[in-house]
Amino acid sequence: MTEHIDLEDGAETEGREQTGQGQFETRSIHAGQEPDEETGAVMPPIYATSTYVQDGPGEDRGYEYSRTGNPTRTALEENLAALEDAEYGRAFASGMASINTVLNLLEAGDHVVAGDDVYGGTHRLFRQVYEQYDLSFSFVDTTDHDAVLSAMRPDTELVWVETPTNPLMRVNDIAALSEIAHDHDALCAVDNTFATPYLQQPLDHGADIVSHSLTKYLGGHSDVVSGALVTNDEHLDERFGFYQNSVGATPDPFACFLVLRGTKTLALRMDRHCENARTIADRLDAHPDVSHVYYPGLESHPQHDLAAEQMRDFGGMVSFELDATLDETADFVSATEVFALAESLGGVESLIEQPATMTHASIPREERIEAGLTDGLVRISVGVEHVDDLWSDLESAIELALS
Ligand SMILES: *Cc1c(COP(=O)(O)O)cnc(C)c1O
Repeated sequence: MTEHIDLEDGAETEGREQTGQGQFETRSIHAGQEPDEETGAVMPPIYATSTYVQDGPGEDRGYEYSRTGNPTRTALEENLAALEDAEYGRAFASGMASINTVLNLLEAGDHVVAGDDVYGGTHRLFRQVYEQYDLSFSFVDTTDHDAVLSAMRPDTELVWVETPTNPLMRVNDIAALSEIAHDHDALCAVDNTFATPYLQQPLDHGADIVSHSLTKYLGGHSDVVSGALVTNDEHLDERFGFYQNSVGATPDPFACFLVLRGTKTLALRMDRHCENARTIADRLDAHPDVSHVYYPGLESHPQHDLAAEQMRDFGGMVSFELDATLDETADFVSATEVFALAESLGGVESLIEQPATMTHASIPREERIEAGLTDGLVRISVGVEHVDDLWSDLESAIELALS
C-alpha cells in the first residue's frame, strides 16, 4: 500500500461549515446547494458542459474538464459528505465504481478481509477482477470477531464490511471491526448502502471510508445508477479524486441532479420505509406459512441489541422464509401485484425477489442452502406505499401460491 493513504491521527474538523449545518433533515436539503449567485436559481443547475473557458492559459475558475470536476457533481459531493457528517465526498458512476476505487488504493501483494455475505457484485469484483492483479481476499463471517482476527495478516490492508447484509440481514459491529482493522494498520471501509446515512454513520463508529450505491435509497426512485465514497481523511479523499480523474468512472451531471433530488427526502422516505418494514416483519412473523423472518428490528434477531445501538432505526429490507418448495416460492414472488418482481432495492416502490433463483442463483444449491439461502427464502424491499395494501398483497399471494 502506498504511503499516501496512511491514516492521519485524528481527522480535522475545521471546514465543517461548508459541508452544511443543522440536523440531518436540514443538511440533506441545503448542503451543497446554495442558490445560484448569478440567477438566484434555488436548485443547482444541471451543468451540461464538458469543458470550461479559462481566463488565461492555466487560469481556470475552479473547473477545467467535467471528468475532473463539474459543479452539479460538486453540489452532490458536498451534500453526501454532509449526510455522513463527514469532511469529504466523491461521486462515482455506480456503486461498483466506488468500490473499485477503494480497491485502487491497494498494491499487488496486499490482502483484504471481507464479509462472507457481501453484495454479489463486490464478491465478483474482488475474486474475478482483482485476484488476477495479485490481491488476495479472505471472506469470513464478520459477526464472528475471532474469525476476523484470525484472518488478519501482516499484509492485510483493508477490512471490507457491509451492515446489514444481504439477504440475511446480519448486523456487523462497525466499531469493533474498525478497531481490529486499525490494530493491524489496515483501513476499515463500510458499504452503507442498506442502512443509508440517515440510519447509520459508520465514520462516527471508527470506519475510515463509507461506500454507497446511490442507486438504492439515496437516489430513492429507481431511476439512476450512481455511487459515492465519503471520508474524513484528506489524503484518502485526494486519492479518490485522483482515481475519479484517472479512471474516469464519474457520474454525469444529470445523474448527480437526480441523486440530489433524492437525498432531499431521504429522512422522510426512510422513516416510512422503516415503519412499513417493521409492520410487515411483525405480521410475517405471526403468519403460519412463514418459518423465519430476518429483520434487525425483531427482538428475535441475533444482533438486535447491536442494531439498536448502531442504527437509528432498522431499515426497509426484510427477508423471510416461506414453508415452501422452490417452485411454490417462485409462484409466490410471481403472484404479488403491488410488490414488483425485481432485483435492486431502496426505491419508493416495493420490490420482491427470490434469492435462490435471482440474486444468488449463481451459488451452487448445496453451498447456497448451507449459507442459509434456502429455496423458500424471499427478500423484500419494503416501499412507502400504504402498509395495508402491501400486507394484503403478500397475504393473498401466499394463499394463492401455497394452496
Ligand atoms: C447495489 C449495491 C452495490 C452496487 O451498486 P451499483 O450502483 O449497482 O453499482 C453495492 N453494494 C450494495 C450493498 C448494493 O446493494
